[in-house]
Amino acid sequence: MTAPTEAARGLPVAGAAEARRAAVRLVREDGRAVVAMLALNGLAAAAGLGGPWLLGRIIDDVRAGAGTGHVDRLALGILCFALAQLLLGRFARYAGYRFGERTLARIRERFVERALALPASVVERAGTGDLMTRGTADVATVGTTLRDAAPEVSVALVQVVLIMAAMLAVDLPLGVCGVLCLSGIWFATRWYLRRAHAGYLAEGAADSALAEVLGSTAAGARTVEALGLEERRIAAAAEAIENCRATRTHTLNLRSVLFPVVEFSYVAPVAGILLIGGALRGTGAVGIGAVVSCALYVWQLAEPMDKALLWLDQLQRSNASFARVEGVGRIDAPVVTGGARPADDRIDVVGVRYAYQGERDVLHGVDLTVRPGERLAVVGPSGAGKSTLGRLLAGAEVPRTGRVTVGRVPVAELDPAQLRRHVVLVSQEHHVFLGTVRDNLGIAAPTAGDRELRAALAAVGGDWVDELPDGLDTALGAGGHRPDAQQAQQLALARVVLADPHTVILDEATSLLDPATARHTERSLAAVLRGRTVIAIAHRLHTAHDADRVAVMDGGRVTELGSHDELLAADGGYAALWRSWHGG
Ligand code: ADP
Repeated sequence: MTAPTEAARGLPVAGAAEARRAAVRLVREDGRAVVAMLALNGLAAAAGLGGPWLLGRIIDDVRAGAGTGHVDRLALGILCFALAQLLLGRFARYAGYRFGERTLARIRERFVERALALPASVVERAGTGDLMTRGTADVATVGTTLRDAAPEVSVALVQVVLIMAAMLAVDLPLGVCGVLCLSGIWFATRWYLRRAHAGYLAEGAADSALAEVLGSTAAGARTVEALGLEERRIAAAAEAIENCRATRTHTLNLRSVLFPVVEFSYVAPVAGILLIGGALRGTGAVGIGAVVSCALYVWQLAEPMDKALLWLDQLQRSNASFARVEGVGRIDAPVVTGGARPADDRIDVVGVRYAYQGERDVLHGVDLTVRPGERLAVVGPSGAGKSTLGRLLAGAEVPRTGRVTVGRVPVAELDPAQLRRHVVLVSQEHHVFLGTVRDNLGIAAPTAGDRELRAALAAVGGDWVDELPDGLDTALGAGGHRPDAQQAQQLALARVVLADPHTVILDEATSLLDPATARHTERSLAAVLRGRTVIAIAHRLHTAHDADRVAVMDGGRVTELGSHDELLAADGGYAALWRSWHGG
């Protein structure tokens, strides 16, 4: 089936066949538990059939003149069957819940693995809201299904099948009549199922869109205020909320048709069996006991069917959620051959053109060679493509045409661990991960010991770790030590020291800091950068002045390239910029 347009713009959604295959795989992975669950369910349902059958027999036997002793024995039988059903049902549910929890854990783990493997550019394009909604709300919906709905529904379905079989066995014409009277449920359910999957997918997509709008508004609150965009953001949120409401109303409408039809359908077969049973009894074709048994069976059917139908809604919801969770696996991981090893530390950018998803080119044929050990400053007006070039150099994006290579190997073909040893991008955003100081540093060098971690922090001036209550084991973030901007930056820089790449790309790494902190950090940076190739995307021209060469970018092209002095002598755009900056 095709995904709705909202979802198509975000991350992909798994098709019906694909989701089915994934579900079958999950069941197979825990096959024994599923077999045990079904067997226990079957036994519990079979035990449930004993009561009505014995009751029918009591009626017939009493009419044939049986004594109280015989009736007592049969009544004891009913009690035993009820007890057996209770116990077997309990174990069946227990097996079901265990299976559900284990499977949910596997789904979660797989989702996290896949989400972490996603190319950063894909996540940026789709918006983190979509990924977040899938990882939280959608996984929780699938979880409810596995935890509650799946065990309940499997019990109910087995009961329904066995009760129907028992009804047909007690008396074929009456049984057929009962089953026919139930057919209304079949049509109503089919009508509902045809519409519900798309309805719930749309609901999920609307939730994602709302999370995205609210999340980005909150994250960019200052920008929104500064640019006076409040009205527009409120309008966007209102539209997303309206869309959520509309998709929810649609599924509510579907339910409001399904449930009344189903309710009526339970009463119809009991009336049908009593009417037809009464008529047949008149002709002597059937005994009263059989009529009572069949009527009780059909009455018994209402409970499991009700349960199954109640959960049907949840199943539909979780089907759509599962398709969204599995959809993350459809994104191709970046082509990582991992075989080739860079011959040296030289970086070449050859004929690179790049466009963000479905948009115009923002780089129009960039050629650049960065020699090992040199300091290259990239300057130019905002929107010239400097950050985009930085991301391509760091392997975060793949050029549309042309190539970016390190030691003649395309950077995008290096696996993450290999890439980290060659090129690292340090941007303005320094994320502190929830975890200990050790966790935050260990990302860059999983095998590093305490001494190395401390040395890396010390190299960037991060001696504060020694003053923390638990040193490297101090938890960071909410509930633990909250690092300030400078400490967050030092953690990021210590990661660079640990990764030990030959080339560091600085994308305005210190521009968000206040001047005093920035100076301090730049001193730390100098320690990190010693002996490495440095590509600095600069907005302060003194960075360019200190660099070995300067690349000037404008409109997605490198327009000038040379040392500060050469560019001044050439008297082009850079010289004009420098003069205006220097006030003369
Ligand atoms: P600079 O760093 O020189 O300011 P950028 O590389 O950030 O320039 O941007 C170059 C062009 O690419 C701009 O027109 C910008 O609007 C566009 N651009 C940047 N990031 C994205 C993105 N994630 N999606 C779409 N367009 C983008």
